[in-house]
Amino acid sequence: MLDYVDLKYAFEDLNLTEKPVIVHASLRPFGYIKSGVDAILRAMLSSFKSVMMPAFTYKTMVTPEVGPPNNGITYGSEKDLNKMAQAFTLNMRVDPMIGMLAETLQIRPYATRTNHPILSFTGIRADEFLSTQTLANPLAPIGTLANADGWVVLINVDHSVNTSIHYAEKLAGRKQFIRWAIHGDRIVECPGFPGDSSGFNTIAQYLKHDTRRVDVGPGFIQAVSLKCLFEAVQEIIKKDPLALLCQRSDCERCNAVREDSPMG
Ligand SMILES: [Zn+2]
Repeated sequence: MLDYVDLKYAFEDLNLTEKPVIVHASLRPFGYIKSGVDAILRAMLSSFKSVMMPAFTYKTMVTPEVGPPNNGITYGSEKDLNKMAQAFTLNMRVDPMIGMLAETLQIRPYATRTNHPILSFTGIRADEFLSTQTLANPLAPIGTLANADGWVVLINVDHSVNTSIHYAEKLAGRKQFIRWAIHGDRIVECPGFPGDSSGFNTIAQYLKHDTRRVDVGPGFIQAVSLKCLFEAVQEIIKKDPLALLCQRSDCERCNAVREDSPMG
């Protein structure tokens, strides 16, 4: 059984004590942890300079009847989901797909959360990064984190959930999307919405030498600097404009990127 001390040692083995980090996690592979999610969170907060996580909320999203072309979406297709959509609030639960750790961070006293209706971020001692988010530039906190020598920490997950790769895609000039969400009593247009991430783990082979990895009980933690990550992603997209896309023939966003690219 893992406990706080095991996790604390594991995070310290990454040797990132002075660094701000963005974290993605799946906790199930660890099995039972004494004091659970709270132990992981405390270990993280005592091991890194600041901790940020995505606190995305997809149930705020609505799909209009019509909209801009090649937007990786089927307009008018989500009538039933639209009816169930809820207005974003700062205490809305983080989407279950993002995981329990982000929700636990978000509800912690001293945690801050940004108010983007779909792509909010939450963090502790991370206000200098969180405060840079705008509706037009939803992933800006990741860029600011990179400038402060930030790292991405992946707990039991691979790069297919690594949101920071989306920021690098944008730097590489890759197509971004428009989505819509309920905020207050209005429907807000949300530009800069990223593509599909299910093909992202292809990047792992280019980051082997720059990745720090620690095994923890039945699980693992890996970390890579955002600067390294951004360089690697931009380089492979420059060589192959279709790099990191998934191979599902019905993936609307990857297909839209193919259509938009010079080789598509
Ligand atoms: Zn895809």
